[in-house]
Amino acid sequence: MFDEEHPLADAQLQTLAVRAGQHRTAEGEQGEPIFTTSSYVFDNAAAAAARFSGDEPGNVYSRYTNPTVRCFEERLAAMEGGEACVATASGMAAILSCCLSLLKSGDHVLASRSIFGTTSMLLNKYLAKFGIEVTQVNLTDYDAWQQALKPNTKMLFAETPSNPLNDIADISKLAELAHGNDSLLVIDNCFCSPALQQPLSLGADLVIHSATKFLDGQGRVLGGAVVGPEKLCEEVLGFIRTCGPTMSAFNAWVFLKGLETLKLRMQAHSDNAMALARWLQQHPKVEQVYYCGLPEHPNHELATKQQKAYGGVLSFKVVGDREQAWKVIDACRLMSLTANLGDAKTTIVHPATTTHGRLSDEQKLEAGISENLIRIAVGLEDVDDLKQDLERGLSQL
Ligand SMILES: *Cc1c(COP(=O)(O)O)cnc(C)c1O
Repeated sequence: MFDEEHPLADAQLQTLAVRAGQHRTAEGEQGEPIFTTSSYVFDNAAAAAARFSGDEPGNVYSRYTNPTVRCFEERLAAMEGGEACVATASGMAAILSCCLSLLKSGDHVLASRSIFGTTSMLLNKYLAKFGIEVTQVNLTDYDAWQQALKPNTKMLFAETPSNPLNDIADISKLAELAHGNDSLLVIDNCFCSPALQQPLSLGADLVIHSATKFLDGQGRVLGGAVVGPEKLCEEVLGFIRTCGPTMSAFNAWVFLKGLETLKLRMQAHSDNAMALARWLQQHPKVEQVYYCGLPEHPNHELATKQQKAYGGVLSFKVVGDREQAWKVIDACRLMSLTANLGDAKTTIVHPATTTHGRLSDEQKLEAGISENLIRIAVGLEDVDDLKQDLERGLSQL
């Protein structure tokens, strides 16, 4: 990312989070400016021609480049350990851009079954319309991944930890499978963020982000990003510039501020989630807790090896059925009943009737989405208050 002379050449994550990407203007500003401009002015006709032809680097139009967006891209690339980054209007725009720029009709995509519902919809409904084949397999069943590989498999796509059960996939193992088949491995790193996991260093070819979640961290704006080698990002960038799902300068600035505190927040989210998971685990009205930080979780060892902490999302089953789960949710006065995650404010949701409501009963059973399951994206409140909030409903069961 940086040459040897660069002051950030050897910098660690938290320094990059605060410093990478900033190019001060002649005004000498300490904070990163927001460039709210759609286009840029040239000194003369020859300079305009040189910019347009690409002979001279510089800004032309904000669908192509914007200094605030550029700053966000450089900062996130540095934090993920990638050569390049392309910012997008949302997480879904990042996934769409990645697929449409790198795949063509006749290609096959192999994805884990537990990916974000809208990603599944994008692959199965929209990409299928353009002759792209899709197969989905169990995230942690490496034999199934292996067996589903085909000569035309161009891309493997996975999310780890999974939502909402916190299954963990071995990224190096998936990379090995992908590369043995000349396929690309794309990891949606939304749940961990680069503060907890850097998939590129484990062999992934591209990292996807919904910046809307932990990168912002305060539930303000939508955005996304694709991070990876220059060569692949060039393709994605070409798509963005032509098709237009660009990130706005204002949103890029919000994400820049979010990145500065990302590591501190991820540690706090993880600490809170761990404390809440342990408390839930010993609660008589709780049947089971799914959090990769718990030693009882089937993928705990891998999570410890692959991640710096266990993240902010957990789920649990209450004793009972839908009625009991809804009762606990409805009794909450602090936690927000919303499907979003990665916010300072804790959110609680009933996956079976919301985020995973589109799945058939059989698919739900297969994915472990039962009627008594509740997902919590643990925020930054004092954890004792969160416990009290849940106890209000749990004590009614
Ligand atoms: C939210 C989310 C997305 C989609 O991101 P948007 O910014 O909402 O478009 C993709 N992947 C995961 C894992 C998500 O949680």
